[in-house]
Amino acid sequence: MNALPATTLPAGAAPVACVDIGGTKVAVSVVDQRGTQGRLIEPTVKQGAPDALAQQVLRMIGASCQAAHIRPGDIAAVGVAACGPFVLNQGRVELATPNICGGLAGAARGLPNDWTTAVLEAPLHQAFPGVRVENDGIAALEAERRWGALQGLSHCAYVTWSTGIGVGLCVDGRVLHGKNGNAGHAGHMFVSDNSDALCGCGNIGDVEALVAGNALPRRFPVYPDAATVFIAASEGDAGATAIIDEICRVMGRTLYNLIVTLDLQRISLGGSVFWHHRDYLLPRLQSHISGRLSALTGGCTLVPAGLQDQVGDYAALALVA
Ligand SMILES: [Zn+2]
Repeated sequence: MNALPATTLPAGAAPVACVDIGGTKVAVSVVDQRGTQGRLIEPTVKQGAPDALAQQVLRMIGASCQAAHIRPGDIAAVGVAACGPFVLNQGRVELATPNICGGLAGAARGLPNDWTTAVLEAPLHQAFPGVRVENDGIAALEAERRWGALQGLSHCAYVTWSTGIGVGLCVDGRVLHGKNGNAGHAGHMFVSDNSDALCGCGNIGDVEALVAGNALPRRFPVYPDAATVFIAASEGDAGATAIIDEICRVMGRTLYNLIVTLDLQRISLGGSVFWHHRDYLLPRLQSHISGRLSALTGGCTLVPAGLQDQVGDYAALALVA
């Protein structure tokens, strides 16, 4: 396996801050010519005013700078890769993420706030005018285009198959954003009939509800987690094999739909569910593409992420490096 690229900036380049916001944790680091410095991880703040998460990020950037002996005023840019969906308020990104904002699904969801959005970009922009906020699927795509398996390609996608499903899309050399920066939420498309799998977004039977890492133990409680299903299948368990064939049918159709819609050259795949079982999954996924409408699918390949299981670590940096 090839060595991963170094996360360093060229000599003389001003340091940048990298922020990764997920539904459960926030990771912050600063990068300069020495490499990644002062990496901090905290649980995502979900209490207080709607700007509490932004204040957490600002505080963590300050702490990260202090650990790295960098003055916050010397930070040239801040890359933020955040879970979505986004809404824009006066052109600035706010998060409308069901796992973070308690005001979306109401008290029954059990989150300790009544936020309908988490304010994010506006306070960061005030402190760091060079901030760039993108959906984490888009940021991961940019990392794969810059350092990974999508280098030099103008028509490509990155798909993460993990706890959830995330996608970043590039056509004609342009990374797609959409009206609110949410292009690539392809995990919430419908590709089969199902009336019991509930997605965090509220849909029943969408792709994420059917195949995401957290969906498998919910749908098939005999297996406590996704890994157990794959172990059972590798040991010849017919039920587990049938489950994996079925989730590959759903994910394979999703990938096929992306290829024929956007005329893609290559899709790079990552995320914990895919990465740990890529040798098993890749040919099964490819079988739902090869031979179908070959004028569109011929020559389009599915490949493991060039940045391996560390795409997320490079995603925020790709926005500002
Ligand atoms: Zn959904």
